[in-house]
Amino acid sequence: MPASLSQKPYRVGRSRTGLGLFATKPIKKGTKIIRYFGPLLDSKKKDEDAIENKYLFELTNRWTIDGSIRENVARYINHACRPNAESDVKPRKRKVFIRAIKDIEPGDEINYDYGTDYFKAYLKPIGCKCDACEKKRKKKRAEARAERLRLKEKAERKARREAEKLAEARAKQRKAKKAAKANGKLGNGQTPNGKALNGKALNGKHLNGHSLTAVTGKRAVPSRRGATRVLQA
Ligand SMILES: [Zn+2]
Repeated sequence: MPASLSQKPYRVGRSRTGLGLFATKPIKKGTKIIRYFGPLLDSKKKDEDAIENKYLFELTNRWTIDGSIRENVARYINHACRPNAESDVKPRKRKVFIRAIKDIEPGDEINYDYGTDYFKAYLKPIGCKCDACEKKRKKKRAEARAERLRLKEKAERKARREAEKLAEARAKQRKAKKAAKANGKLGNGQTPNGKALNGKALNGKHLNGHSLTAVTGKRAVPSRRGATRVLQA
């Protein structure tokens, strides 16, 4: 490689969209990096005005640079919405330079903003692939993923809560059934037929706090039904 070429702080390399221009040396903010050049097209000449390609660079209403020639290495520089370089247009000299607007590190891709017209005509329809736009897309995708996950977890929590409620209700039912069965066996203050004793004798008469045997002159004898009955001596 000739010395003059190797001194250049850039090289053509693979980029996300095909080829791109990459820094090979640190490039200080404000430095002219490369000239964008090619034949000048005159819009006053009908046949020149009809030329159309992606590398046209409009200098003035009249003059346009056709940058599609091979020698114009600057044509490899891709567009970026948040670029590290800019096109520095000298209309009177009919020259365009690409100039660093940030410190650029070796390995960084060099890019500049192609402008609104180009963006609308060529990039918007296919989706801009610059870092800033890719980052934005990634962020949106991540947010959409997070939202889907959030909704899924919410639905799962709800399903879990409902399952727990159902299980609780069933457990309560089982407990109630068990308790009812147990009540039937043990009495628990109730006669098997469900009537409360309430301090009354089984035959429904009040004992009035007296024990059956302590009533003077009276004797208690078991009745045939098994309940006690107070009889006159
Ligand atoms: Zn972009």
